[in-house]
Parts: sequence; structure tokens; C-alpha cells
Amino acid sequence: MDQAVSSSNELVFAPLGGAGEIGMNLAIYGLGDSRHCKWIAVDLGVAFAGDDLPGIDLILPDIRYLIQERDNLLGLVLTHAHEDHFGALIDLWPRLKVPLYATQFTAALLQAKREGEPGAPDIPVNVVPLGGRFGLGPFDIELVSMAHSIPESNALIIRTPLGAVLHTGDWKIDPTPVIGPPTDETKLRALGNEGCLAVIGDSTNAYREGRSPSETDVAACLGELIRSAPRRVAVTTFASNVTRLRAVAKAAAGEREVVLVGRAMDRIVQVARETGYLEGVQDFRSVDVYGHLPVEKVVALCTGSQGEARAALARIAQDEHPDVAFSPGDRVIFSSRAIPGNEKAVMRVINGLVAQGIEVITDRTHLVHVSGHPRIEELKELIGWVRPQILIPVHGEPLHMAEHAALARRCGVRRVLTCRDGELVRLAPGPPEKIDELPAGRLYKDGALLVSAEERTVADRRRLGFGGIVSVALAVSHRGDLVGDPRVMTTGVPETDAHGNRIEDLAYEAAVEALESMPRAQRRDPDALAEGVRRAVRAALAAVWNKKPTCHVHVLQL
Ligand SMILES: [Zn+2]
Ligand SMILES: [Zn+2]
Repeated sequence: MDQAVSSSNELVFAPLGGAGEIGMNLAIYGLGDSRHCKWIAVDLGVAFAGDDLPGIDLILPDIRYLIQERDNLLGLVLTHAHEDHFGALIDLWPRLKVPLYATQFTAALLQAKREGEPGAPDIPVNVVPLGGRFGLGPFDIELVSMAHSIPESNALIIRTPLGAVLHTGDWKIDPTPVIGPPTDETKLRALGNEGCLAVIGDSTNAYREGRSPSETDVAACLGELIRSAPRRVAVTTFASNVTRLRAVAKAAAGEREVVLVGRAMDRIVQVARETGYLEGVQDFRSVDVYGHLPVEKVVALCTGSQGEARAALARIAQDEHPDVAFSPGDRVIFSSRAIPGNEKAVMRVINGLVAQGIEVITDRTHLVHVSGHPRIEELKELIGWVRPQILIPVHGEPLHMAEHAALARRCGVRRVLTCRDGELVRLAPGPPEKIDELPAGRLYKDGALLVSAEERTVADRRRLGFGGIVSVALAVSHRGDLVGDPRVMTTGVPETDAHGNRIEDLAYEAAVEALESMPRAQRRDPDALAEGVRRAVRAALAAVWNKKPTCHVHVLQL
């Protein structure tokens, strides 16, 4: 093959988020050569931070590569409106300002989210119909409806002169999904007949045997539990799971009023009504009527299924909600499962409720939740329909992706490749191969700011959480003699040692002793003096405490 021709016409793929973690999904596809590519991006999501990142709520993909390539970026296509796929838009889209494509529900939810965040930028969206097809430069993109746990989840068929790629997005096979069309088997089979170069696919449940149950069965179980409840019922679920909201409403119809508790619930219900997903469902009531309804006439739909401290359910469990309280004998249903990292927070809420005598029902004992992601038999079925030459697992931690890769090999996919965030893979021509490493990483949302994960900020915060901080302020003359009394302050350090000596006094003595034992030349150099004192204070505290705090020494030379 003519090398010059082949290298100037390559189809490449790179995950910039979501390959190696569940969350912050961002994938890019490029056509061109290694020096000049036209790109499209798929999704721009967040991941949720756990206790290991103190003070951080959200993790976003580092998009410095896309910023650098902005002139070659033709568009950003959203597969669906879950936070791990579109949650970074408000923060990051202004840095790209590329044309954005999404279906109606996703676009409406983005709009509602922007309205709820003062100062959020205006983000224009090109609305694509379900199953629609559109061109972005040399890319021909077609949406494929997939069943999932939110309305309008789409896979993308990305057709190029070098072959067609199926980017699955999040999906499952549910022949009776309650809301929206089932996974479009016909279109996927047709892609298989047309010829599919590569599948870039969801690995979330690749280690789970069998098939995930249908939303219809979950709706039946929820209905049963709501109808049989002796007193109040509350259901908590991801607000975006409109299917569950509908199931609760159907079960309550004519028997109980549905009260929405939590801002995210209000927002989704408004969007779902606008887009027709709650057609035929009775009006919901706002939270202020809750207290006036008889206990057997109410079902509350609450936010907070992930144990979020500020969401409705956690506040109710702590008896801190202004409008809503539960009492013994009430029933709370978790129509959800904790996202990895949130397990402890969820257990705290459950224990808070149980301690109040409230009956808690979870998916451990009842079919009140199913995942929106494909299990092994569903993954096999998709591979059978599409028969790709290449499969690359994404949307998973390394274990999920390895399981997905092994499964694809067992199913006879000839070329299976696993890659991580930032790895650039050539899909065609020739066998798939990693050809480059792009700048990739993580950003942390820290209050109103975005900070790079490579900055010291969060690592420092973790260190402070472990060992606290000691500050020492010293004034010395030009000759290096102490002027006045040094000041010592501690934060997050024990007050006394095992013998009852005050730790601040120990730090003070260590500082003075260090200064007095230093040669005069060192005492006259403020930096050398500070460093000597810092070491002495940390060593003195380590001797009684077995920990070394962060220590700041301020030297004022008079
Ligand atoms: Zn999803
Ligand atoms: Zn996802």
C-alpha cells in the first residue's frame, strides 16, 4: 500500500474520559492524518468525587487537547442527558463553543439545568429527531434509539469513507421499556449487513451474567408495594428516570396524591411534561401540601437516592426537612442503587430512616430497580447483530473493560483492543493500533473554580485532613536575635500529648531551641532560619504524636 496515501487518510478514536472510570465520558473521532485531523466529540460528562477528594463535588475531563484543536472540531454530539454524559457542558462548553447536537429531551433538560444555575452560559443546541441522520464534515452520523434508564438514549452510527463505527452510548435490551422505543434491533442488524468496522461500547455490567430485567417488571413491583402500603410511601430514584416517575404515578392514580420533593424532581417533571413523556399522567402536587394529606393518601417522590447530604431524602432522614417528615410505619422505597463511591452515604440515610422505625425497601429484596446497562447476554446479542471487526470497551473501570474485551473475544470479534483515557487508536486502515498519547486528565470542580487534578490543592487538603497544621511566627533582628516572643498556632492538632503537655508549648519550645542552637550566619538568613525551625517543630511533634503536621514558619526580619 502507498504509505503516503494511507497515512493521510486515517480514522482514529480516543477516549478523553470514561475509559478507566465510570463517569466523565468524552470520546473523539478523527479523520485525516496525524498532523491534521477533523474531529467530532461525543458526550461531555462528569464523574462524582468520593471522600478521597475533600471539598470536591465533581470531576470533569481535561479538555486541553480539544481547546488546542478547536478549529478542527466540527461538533459535539450528546448521546443522552445523564450527568456522566452531559454534566460538564455548562462548565466546559464555553471553552469550546462548538456546534452541539442532541435530541429534544436532552436539549430540554440542558436548558432546564441552565435556568437553575444563575450565570450559566447560553448553549445553543441543534435538535436532532430520534433516529435522525446528519452530516458533520466527512462524518455521517445516524442516531439509533437504545433502551436505557432515561428517555432518549442514543447510539451513534458514525459513517466515514474508512468504515462505520457504532458508538453504543448507554444501553440495554428491554423489549418493554415502558417509555420510549425499545433498542432498535432492526437498525443494528442492518448495520451488521452493511458492515461495521468497530463497536465502541458500554462495559458497565460486562461482568454480570444473564440479562437485566425489564422496566415493566420494576413498574409492577413498585405498584404492588405502593398499593399495599399501610401508611405514607416515599420513593427515591434518579429524577431523570422518568419511567420510574411514571410507574409511581400510575400506581398512585386514584388512590394517592404524588408529591414531588426536591428541586431536581420538579425540573425533570417539567421537562418530561413538555416533551410528552408524562402524557396521561395526573398532575403532581408540590411539597407544601404534603403535611395536609392523610397518611394513606400520599406518595412522595424524593431526590437523594445517592445519599447526597443536601438532597431531600437525607434531610428527611435527619428530620431536617422543612415540609416533609416520616413517622414509624411509613414505607421508603429505594428505586435505585448506589453508584460506586456513594455506598456509605446511602447506608447512612437508610440507617437514619430505619432508626426512626421506617420500613426501608431496596433492590436487595424486591425488584424495585434495574440497571440501564447491558449484561453479558445482551452484549453478546448486540455483537451478533452488528458483527464488528473491532471492539473497544469503554464506559468502565479497568475490570469492566477487561471483562467486556474477554467476552468480545469469546464471541469471535477478531480485533479487540482496550485503551485508557488519552490513548489515540487508529481504527483504519490496517489493524487497530495505538499510535499516540493525547493530553488528557481530570479537572476538579472546587467551589466556583476548575482546578487541574495535577495541582497540589486537593493533595494538600488531604494531608491537612490527616495531620493538621502548625504555624510559627518569629521576629528576628538583623543580627539574628529573637525580637519578642514567637507565636504558635495549631489547627487540627491534638491539644495535649500523652503526659498532658500542651502541644503548642512543645512546638514553641522546639522553635526557640532550634533558633538558639543555630549558627548566627544561618539565623541571619530568613529562609534558612524558617527551614531549620520547621524541621525542628515537625520532629518534636512527631516524637510525641507519631504524625508530622504541615508546618508554616513566618520569619519577620526587623
Ligand atoms: Zn446513562
Ligand atoms: Zn453513562
